[in-house]
Amino acid sequence: MARLGDGRTDSGLVTLDEAAAGAVSRVDPVAETLKLPLAAADGHVLAEAVVARLDLPPFANSAVDGYAIRFADLAAAGATSLPVQGRTLAGEAPARLDHGAWRIFTGAPVPEGADTIVMQEDVVASDGVVTMPAGLRRGANLRLAGEDVACGQEALPAGRRLRPPDLGLLAALGLAEVPVRRRPRVALFSTGDELTEPGRPLGPGAIYDANRAMLHAMLVRAGAEIVDLGILRDDAEGLEQRLREAATGCDLVLTSGGVSVGEADHVRDAVLACGGLDLWRVAIKPGKPIAIGSVAGTPFVGLPGNPVAVFVGFAFVARPLLARLAGETYVSPAAWPVRLGFTHARKPGRREFLRVSLERDADGIVARRHPGEGAGSLASLAQSDGLVVLAEDITQVKAGDLAPFLPYAELL
Ligand code: AMP
Ligand code: MG
Repeated sequence: MARLGDGRTDSGLVTLDEAAAGAVSRVDPVAETLKLPLAAADGHVLAEAVVARLDLPPFANSAVDGYAIRFADLAAAGATSLPVQGRTLAGEAPARLDHGAWRIFTGAPVPEGADTIVMQEDVVASDGVVTMPAGLRRGANLRLAGEDVACGQEALPAGRRLRPPDLGLLAALGLAEVPVRRRPRVALFSTGDELTEPGRPLGPGAIYDANRAMLHAMLVRAGAEIVDLGILRDDAEGLEQRLREAATGCDLVLTSGGVSVGEADHVRDAVLACGGLDLWRVAIKPGKPIAIGSVAGTPFVGLPGNPVAVFVGFAFVARPLLARLAGETYVSPAAWPVRLGFTHARKPGRREFLRVSLERDADGIVARRHPGEGAGSLASLAQSDGLVVLAEDITQVKAGDLAPFLPYAELL
């Protein structure tokens, strides 16, 4: 692996998987934990497993509006008529049924002695007698205590990034608050003399800083807390000073731009002056060098400047690193096969990501390639649905081939 930190030049490519694994291996999970009320816990990472302290559901209850019966009371053949002995609504205490039928509603506790519920749509009820057809199944329409989660079972594992249904489950288990890890704090800045803050006038040769807005949003979605340090100029000494400041009190310093080997690419030197750095040429397209290292003891990730390379570098290298920092059990984004609507030939050796949109044609769903191919084309990202992934060894794909597709929703 090319270690510029050792003073050697970068040569050779590392695979994307090596780069991601290398990045992840350099960080440890944030240690501090806190308790959050459920309403504030979405997107946070569970610090410890949650074990159910009660059965879910807590008692046997009816899944339908109908009549609770004892299966043994049903006639061996043909319809059965039973007298209705009483009724239970949701929220009432369980009754007891020795013989006959018991009116019951969804969520109400099943009377002791009953083992089957008949849906009200399936019976004829008149004058306190209910007549039900043959062919009922023992245990039908009855939700047993603990059938969803049994008391003592693990309901959610440590490392789980909480999603809305998880919060519902925790609430159902009676928890008002949940132990989570503190969010990783990420210092973010852009580098480049050409960059201008959106909203300001644009001078000659200048462009607006696009990466920081995109990275800010990606960091939020990755569960990070952001310290926004703005735009830094291409000046090695100033950069070093700001890097040292950024490192204090943060768990990660994330930058874009200035990590190539151009004359104004000073981030590399600034990081070397206050820490260590590996600059990897990653075998991806679009892609450029990705710098991984540390500044004053804090992990550092330097993404390239081109926005599409930033997006890809964040999604496949920074995102798994952030998951590790957050203590999150990382699940690689799941690709699914789509039919291609284009032909593409290429040199093998790199993993390539093609921006595509999904459309419908006579044969179903087809992936159309966005005409903007360049690593600088933000519109191509904004106007497409996801990435078709071409493995390193592929030299050609043709219209009609199936290829793995990663929707942006999987990456963000
Ligand atoms: P660099 O890696 O600094 O050489 O930048 C590569 C390309 O990305 C150049 O065209 C830069 O102008 C562009 N670029 C760098 N940073 C940003 C940014 N924050 N927003 C938009 N474009 C950028
Ligand atoms: Mg630059």
